[in-house]
Amino acid sequence: MDFELTEEQKDIQKAAREFAQGEFDKEKILEWEQTHTFPREIWKKACKLGFIGLHFPEEYGGQDYGITENMLMVEEFCRQDSGVGIALSLADFSSEVILRFGTPEQKKKYILPVTQGEFISAGAYTEPDHGSDITLLSTTAKKEGDSFLINGTKTFITNGGLADFFIVLCQCDSIVVPSYRGQCTLIVEKGIHGFEATEIVPKMGIRMTSTAELSFSDVRVPASNLIGKENAGFYQVLEFFDESRIEIAAQALGIAQGAFDRALDYAKKREQFKKKLVEFQITQHKLADMATRIEVARLITYKAAWNFDQRGVDPKLTSMAKWFTARTAVEVADEAIQMFGGYGYLTEYEVERFYRDAKITEIYEGTREIQKNTIASALIGKLK
Ligand SMILES: Cc1cc2nc3c(=O)[nH]c(=O)nc-3n(C[C@H](O)[C@H](O)[C@H](O)COP(=O)(O)OP(=O)(O)OC[C@H]3O[C@@H](n4cnc5c(N)ncnc54)[C@H](O)[C@@H]3O)c2cc1C
Repeated sequence: MDFELTEEQKDIQKAAREFAQGEFDKEKILEWEQTHTFPREIWKKACKLGFIGLHFPEEYGGQDYGITENMLMVEEFCRQDSGVGIALSLADFSSEVILRFGTPEQKKKYILPVTQGEFISAGAYTEPDHGSDITLLSTTAKKEGDSFLINGTKTFITNGGLADFFIVLCQCDSIVVPSYRGQCTLIVEKGIHGFEATEIVPKMGIRMTSTAELSFSDVRVPASNLIGKENAGFYQVLEFFDESRIEIAAQALGIAQGAFDRALDYAKKREQFKKKLVEFQITQHKLADMATRIEVARLITYKAAWNFDQRGVDPKLTSMAKWFTARTAVEVADEAIQMFGGYGYLTEYEVERFYRDAKITEIYEGTREIQKNTIASALIGKLK
């Protein structure tokens, strides 16, 4: 057993930390947060330095690293700032579906611009009536000659108002039973006739990312926009979730660490009853508790990433990492606010943002309950 990162991994971690410390400007962050603005300048720089798509093949502008290295970067970004960290982490959201299942032409056309800072991507799976259960879909894609005609609505789509292209999960065969065997993923470019993105604001956290409802009204895309095989969409998306949930765990881990760093720093400075907060045993125990939870979350997240890179998909482990680390982030950020007292409630002291941003990691890419369902079904097997 070896719990050490390699020298190369340590270098990536250090580079990501230095980039975040140097570029994530506090004043600008407050402004972007209030105006719901994507941190475009930082994203451009991050792309230029090779951070975005670190785990993509070199051929498509990536660095050929694994999920582990991407996780280290996301953790460092979110530790420095939860809002900017998540916005950068999700700038290439869902591109992996094209990377895994797409044609070389699709990868060249869509993935290369993502790593080069020209395109932002989005994955559209959730619908107003179908969230946790995407085995059922109302969005249809009807094959007509050499094209697909898409109709329906997707909601809560990250980067919805910003993305240059969308990976859209559709029902393409309405007869097959069970219905998820008739789903497909299609690439839809922004601005196409019949497509509209409507921003959903205001929202609790991740305010530097766009969240939108997408409507498709007779949107016609060429058959060449189909990703992989026609009825394989559901399985492609599930495989993608096994990868992306590790990234969400990394976001949560960074948020937990960032909230802890701030709480520790504050507790060392703040005095009440003529003592520093860190001198109270209850504060010491709180810090010990927070640090222990973070360490456990880190171990399981790193293991999930390592396992993915070394052995491939393990949905049980990935779901364990996702729910546990997300819960840890919410609990640690909550405790951090408590340690700051009234100041923790103020925007200026940042921990309230970490708390608001932590919460989404328990919801998107499958809620905490859905992760536990995945774990339980792996443990128990099929019930009659
Ligand atoms: C800010 C934000 C960004 C998002 N980004 C994206 C995106 O980019 N792309 C995308 O496709 N989606 C995105 N989502 C959607 C997100 O993935 C869904 O909100 C989530 O999967 C839950 O679906 P739902 O909201 O419909 O809740 P529901 O599925 O209606 O669930 C409601 C509650 O019931 C519980 N529940 C449901 N089924 C079960 C069950 N079988 N057992 C136990 N409990 C259950 C859930 O855990 C939850 O607590 C985003 C959501 C938000 C808020």
